[in-house]
Amino acid sequence: MTDKAAKIGVLGAGTMGAGIAQVAAQAGFATLLYDISQEFIDRGLGRIRSFLQGSRERGKITADQEKQILDRLHGTIRLEEFRGTALIIEAAPEKLELKRDIFKRLDSLCAVETLIATNTSSFSVTAIAASAQYPERVLGLHFFNPPALMALVEVIQGDRTTSETIEKATGLMREMGKTPARAKDTPGFIVNRIARPFYNEALRILSDGDASVESIDGIMKEAGNFRMGPFELMDLIGNDVNFAATESLYRAFFEDPRFRPSPIQHRMVMGGNLGRKTSRGFYIYGKK
Ligand code: NAD
Repeated sequence: MTDKAAKIGVLGAGTMGAGIAQVAAQAGFATLLYDISQEFIDRGLGRIRSFLQGSRERGKITADQEKQILDRLHGTIRLEEFRGTALIIEAAPEKLELKRDIFKRLDSLCAVETLIATNTSSFSVTAIAASAQYPERVLGLHFFNPPALMALVEVIQGDRTTSETIEKATGLMREMGKTPARAKDTPGFIVNRIARPFYNEALRILSDGDASVESIDGIMKEAGNFRMGPFELMDLIGNDVNFAATESLYRAFFEDPRFRPSPIQHRMVMGGNLGRKTSRGFYIYGKK
């Protein structure tokens, strides 16, 4: 992959941020990965390294390509280093005030040509952009988990996002090898809105005692041809992230019972059973 001229900034080195940074670097972009502490950056870069090592061992990339990708990636705890980037993708925790604060800071830091995107799963892009002085360059770029393997990216135009911003960002997504799809700035956009009842109904079946975690997942995979069952998927996404998205959609649809969060998932979050990232969720991972 040849080096691209544009530089990409990714904010938040967690599940999504690290994955998105990997996608950008693999596509040839010089990529900066920011987080609030070096420890989080190291963890994110570590995950990228093991993914690439696995790809090399399976013969999907050469050792040279692996080195080139890693050379394009840099971690930073200094937000000022985002100056001069063509696009910044924010993948910080799903908290509206936090995202607004981040967008206010990025907006005052970067030239107006820099596009600033949020990877939010459930908040309105217009609401996040409200804290920016130049909301015209703010948009939603909603990647899916894991970003390195999922082609789809929802491209969301907020009320004040210009069409030029959307076109430029769509072009950059294609250059990253993604399949951009336009979605309106409505709660959950398209995919997450459809996905909420999928998770919620599985949680209801479980809380009613009608079937176990394993049998619900097994049926959906074996008979329904889903790649993963709802509980495996919730553990992959992170129960905290998934619960926050459900809560947010429930509020955004004015407490429509279709989107009501499940007490089971709330208990998992309060107990720190967040899924794969804490080695314990609906399933136990790693050491038995
Ligand atoms: P995560 O908890 O794995 O990672 C969040 C990262 O943000 C952490 O590394 C944390 O240290 C960092 N962070 C905290 N405060 C910060 C700040 N002020 N500035 C910069 N970084 C900060 O979360 P995630 O699963 O990667 O989710 C990130 C975003 O992506 C959320 O908005 C989420 O809704 C969205 N999303 C998640 C998924 C998924 O499957 N997990 C899918 C699509 C979209």
